[in-house]
Amino acid sequence: MKPPLFDYVTPESVEEAVAARAAEEDSVLLAGGQSLLATLNFRIANPALLIDISRIAALKGIDVGAGEIIIRAMVRQREVELSDAVHGANPLLREVLQKVAHTVVRNRGTIAGSIAHADAAAELPAMLLATEGVVDVQGPGGTRVIEASDLFKFHLTTSLAGDEMITAVRIPNLAPNTGWSFKEFARRRGDYALAGICALVTLDDNGRCTKARLSACGIASTAVRLESAEAELAGSTLDENTIARAAKAARDCVTAADDSQASTAYRRHLVDTLTQRTVAVARDRALERRAA
Ligand SMILES: Cc1cc2nc3c(=O)[nH]c(=O)nc-3n(C[C@H](O)[C@H](O)[C@H](O)COP(=O)(O)OP(=O)(O)OC[C@H]3O[C@@H](n4cnc5c(N)ncnc54)[C@H](O)[C@@H]3O)c2cc1C
Repeated sequence: MKPPLFDYVTPESVEEAVAARAAEEDSVLLAGGQSLLATLNFRIANPALLIDISRIAALKGIDVGAGEIIIRAMVRQREVELSDAVHGANPLLREVLQKVAHTVVRNRGTIAGSIAHADAAAELPAMLLATEGVVDVQGPGGTRVIEASDLFKFHLTTSLAGDEMITAVRIPNLAPNTGWSFKEFARRRGDYALAGICALVTLDDNGRCTKARLSACGIASTAVRLESAEAELAGSTLDENTIARAAKAARDCVTAADDSQASTAYRRHLVDTLTQRTVAVARDRALERRAA
């Protein structure tokens, strides 16, 4: 398969990239190319201009601060996965990234590119929702911040304007007394998941859950927060009965229709099981962190 003809520019600043995008409506940003090149090769996309942002120095680098991890837009997924500083600040990221595609794909693919691509089955949008992360965005009118809860609108569709780009993804550090877990079920290792669940739970000194954040990929037209399941967990000691009730609430959040990979009923079964397992692991990790 070969892509259609396109013009190609390599801006060296975010301002140049934004100007190039504003000047050609039929343009697209190229980051790691791991999703975009397939759409070109299959002739699903046929843009007049590719704006390759990989040479923009301001889009490189990770900062791990006291409160959050800043991952600039051209940071590759593998760099984040291997970073001990990131792992120390929020171990959920490595656990999620190890389930994204294969190492060769993560060597090229970026965190921001996956989030901008907004595949409903992708793991990183679900991670952004559970962590309550944000994206920094720049367009011709200036900069703005979009919260994860306002970002994902539909499969492959975000609230970014056509002439805006993500400059960084910001993820809060793991809060004290908080446990984490991500689990998914895919037909083959490295495939997009049929369903995946991300869980973060915070416990007080008596082992009661003061905050639960659950999200899912693969079960709806976007990654989704499982707020009804979170409500079941809040205030409890995360005993097995409570977790089972939360899992039942989570399975009701499945809206994906039957497709060639799985029926709705099967996805509901997966969500139930994965929710029970992720919450139990997150609870146990929270207890371990509290004891340490
Ligand atoms: C074989 C294979 C298996 C895969 N399996 C999985 C999987 O299991 N789970 C998963 O989540 N992903 C999977 N992927 C996709 C992979 O994670 C991609 O790397 C990711 O989706 C896109 O990141 P990228 O940097 O390559 O973006 P690109 O492909 O360069 O861009 C993707 C889209 O995002 C836009 N974009 C990129 N950067 C920005 C930005 N900074 N601001 C605004 N828009 C931007 C582009 O214009 C384009 O529309 C797989 C890919 C392959 C090839």
